[in-house]
Amino acid sequence: MPSRVDQLFLIERFQIMNPIAEKIAKLKARIEWGREMGYYFYLRPIEELHGSRVTVKGRDMLLFSSYSYLNLIGHPKISAAAQNAIAKFGTGTHGARLLAGTLTLHNELEAKIAAFNGTQAAIVFSSGYVTNLATVSTLVGRGDVVICDKLNHASIVDGCILSRAKFVRCKHNDMADLERCLAEAPANTGKLVVADAVFSMDGDIIDLPNVHRLCKKYDAMLMMDEAHSLGVLGKTGHGIEEHFGLSNVVNIKMGTLSKAIPAMGGYIAADNDIIMYLKHVARAFVYSAALSPAATAAAKAAFEVIEEEPQRIAKLQRNIAQFLRELKSRGFDTMQSQTAIVPIICGRDEKTLKMTKFAQDKGLFILPVLSPAVPTGTSRIRALVTAAHSEAEINEALNILEEAGRAVKVLKSSQAAPAVL
Ligand SMILES: *Cc1c(COP(=O)(O)O)cnc(C)c1O
Repeated sequence: MPSRVDQLFLIERFQIMNPIAEKIAKLKARIEWGREMGYYFYLRPIEELHGSRVTVKGRDMLLFSSYSYLNLIGHPKISAAAQNAIAKFGTGTHGARLLAGTLTLHNELEAKIAAFNGTQAAIVFSSGYVTNLATVSTLVGRGDVVICDKLNHASIVDGCILSRAKFVRCKHNDMADLERCLAEAPANTGKLVVADAVFSMDGDIIDLPNVHRLCKKYDAMLMMDEAHSLGVLGKTGHGIEEHFGLSNVVNIKMGTLSKAIPAMGGYIAADNDIIMYLKHVARAFVYSAALSPAATAAAKAAFEVIEEEPQRIAKLQRNIAQFLRELKSRGFDTMQSQTAIVPIICGRDEKTLKMTKFAQDKGLFILPVLSPAVPTGTSRIRALVTAAHSEAEINEALNILEEAGRAVKVLKSSQAAPAVL
């Protein structure tokens, strides 16, 4: 953080600014400080991307911050599908779906998404963010109640705010508190419960069986964001319901086409009536252009590949187990994570920044998450495991993290050194 003198100087300077310029200048000062300290890690251009490796400024690094959970970027069948779509339809869709922008490709993708999710129908939007924003704000409105887990993704929160429904946040994955929120909602109002299936900062899993039970009890609709569970949870990667051995308990399944699926866009899978409603009322569908042919075809091919190559899911799940087990045995706090998102708690922001710099200097591409994105005192490195990592690469990452952890005292130096394989 800036020194006391700098702070005083900054305060003085900001007093004569208008509030908009002031907030911009404040962020600029923080970023400049980070750059000077070597603590600014964001927006780094990646020159090459090959599964578990990236090239940054000509340097080969081990990548542990990719959402490509199943290592499908560059998969020959998926790339070929995108190329064929460009050959046939070109690169754009000349408009919104409802009027003249629907291609056969879009309908094929939606049919595939519905089949994959075991629902009657599906709708795709131009991003996962827009999918949540549009869906929540279209389904609920003034007079309704929308109940969110406290750690839900920003796109859900923004959808709730935009909806003008009563926005209630319950304690994280706490069923007693969810029940309290449901019980407090007036009996004949529309109720929607929305949660991440896998929480994007902590990597833990929602207690779906109990959320479902409570939604039934209080007659609420249930929406799950599967951004980090699609391709990750369940023996065949079908997500949160498969993970718990349930089917058809989620009314509205949301997912993104930009994480395990190597394309762009987002989707809702649900029954025919809900999808029909969204296709005619959701403003981000009605007033925004269709997905590009390449992204549409790539996404469809990717769903097929997930079903054709289940060994990718098995590999990812083995990698997650190895990484989590070893981090814990080396003394790291990984919270309740059971998934590919692995928080490595460092504590204060500065410790996290130091540890990130140490690890990056050793060739490990990982990124820090600081407050206020996560609660103060739980600043962390957010590591992401994928199916691209070999056992040896996971060990390499673990060794770098352990060395970094000791160097910045996230780990006690007295901790027994583990056997190095
Ligand atoms: C990434 C993410 C989104 C947004 O998806 P994009 O396709 O990147 O816009 C929505 N919800 C969660 C939980 C996410 O992690």
